[in-house]
Amino acid sequence: MSQITDLTLAQLKQALGDGDLSSVEITTAFLDRIDSLNPELNAFITISHEDACKAAADADAARAKGKAPAFAGLPMAHKDLFCTDGTRTTCGSKMLADFVAPYDAHVVSRCQQAGLISLGKLNMDEFAMGSSNENSFFGAVKNPWDLSRVPGGSSGGSAAAVAARMTPLATATDTGGSIRQPAALTGTSGLKPTYGRVSRFGMIAFASSLDQGGLIAHTAEDIALGLGLIAGHDPRDSTSADQAVPDYTATLNDSLKGKIIGLPAQFFDERLDPAMRRSMDDVLDVFRSLGATTVDVSLDHIAEAIPAYYVIAPAEASSNLSRFDGVRFGYRADNPKDLTDLYERSRGEGFGSEVKRRILIGTYALSEGYYDAYYKKAQQIRRLIKQDFEQALSQCDLLFGPTTPSTAFVIGEKTADPVAMYLEDIYTVATNMAGLPGGSFQAPLIDGLPSGYQLTGPAFGEGAILNAAHQIQTATDWHTLRPEGL
Ligand code: GLN
Repeated sequence: MSQITDLTLAQLKQALGDGDLSSVEITTAFLDRIDSLNPELNAFITISHEDACKAAADADAARAKGKAPAFAGLPMAHKDLFCTDGTRTTCGSKMLADFVAPYDAHVVSRCQQAGLISLGKLNMDEFAMGSSNENSFFGAVKNPWDLSRVPGGSSGGSAAAVAARMTPLATATDTGGSIRQPAALTGTSGLKPTYGRVSRFGMIAFASSLDQGGLIAHTAEDIALGLGLIAGHDPRDSTSADQAVPDYTATLNDSLKGKIIGLPAQFFDERLDPAMRRSMDDVLDVFRSLGATTVDVSLDHIAEAIPAYYVIAPAEASSNLSRFDGVRFGYRADNPKDLTDLYERSRGEGFGSEVKRRILIGTYALSEGYYDAYYKKAQQIRRLIKQDFEQALSQCDLLFGPTTPSTAFVIGEKTADPVAMYLEDIYTVATNMAGLPGGSFQAPLIDGLPSGYQLTGPAFGEGAILNAAHQIQTATDWHTLRPEGL
């Protein structure tokens, strides 16, 4: 048998259920691997050795009595913006470096109820702002495929931890691409569900109308297993959808015969890197061999997605982050002269530079006299983008394209140029503006580095995305490729 840490969540579940492995064996194997790899990769901010070992022993005992829930004793890890009762939740920020939430996020409690064990909390760009994980107060995360490169962001810790087999499953969030882009750059599978499919309760807010929790794993099958646990209505989030959760694993093996894959012209124009194009063509060949057909579609306003997103997201962030004032919770500056000094220095010292940039942009865009020119205009563009997707998806079952313009870039390469960094999200932000589900899955390597293809579906079409990706993963081995020596 291969090493325990090589197994997917589905394989671990099977081995645990069959009695071939115990939870203590599984949990210890992953914790040992985290201990040996984390000093270099920096994927975890907090490692929960004690709690995880105790939970594993309890799970084995419950299983022996025949009283264990379905996922009892299986390990996972949470992006460090999901609040966890008793374990600190930093959001990658000095502002929350010592913050311990008094409750669990909805996603965290759902996982716990199913029996999953948390191995710890995963590194991320501060307040989920970034595309490279270089904005974390806790330091950059390294890409397991090449330690000189970024793993993507903001869920870079989640993606790197799965890619390096430090956990089989990780939670993540996606406001403009933060699940899909790091999944693509690390050779993992990632799904951003439909807005409202997964409750945001206990998820530290960045841009509330765009934020959505989801998962990163090795396979579409593992995501289907996990999504079934975290999806569903939660009255504590007023935007949570009151819609039944299907069994996502039940449709994984549906045939793709007769399915129509839409190819947005704007994703395949002359700007697409030729190597990325070849990689996408290889994936499309497999779709066709499985009986799917393709149709050309258009997303006319996609070029406006980045500028509109980088008005709306900072506007919402500037409002959400006003709560970090040094008074109620979070970092507080020492010896303030007066109240204004307390606010100014707590925020000045607690936030990093990208977060400050977003607060400034957002406050400007929302201010009297500029609101109509920026925020309102951006919302109008958002509506047009939503209509483009509705129109395109009326002609096909799923939209297909690259997840990122290129493979993982070198650490430091884009930090001095925020606009170059923002353009990294060119294929991903529009999905959030439209509130639709999107997944990124492994495509062929390009010069030894992972590339990812993206599938976007209609609202609540997560099952169709996972089905299509699972079929590709059944027919190819791209999802099994791993960094040399790891
Ligand atoms: N890279 C995008 C940003 O910096 C998206 C981040 C995200 O999805 N959380 O805003």
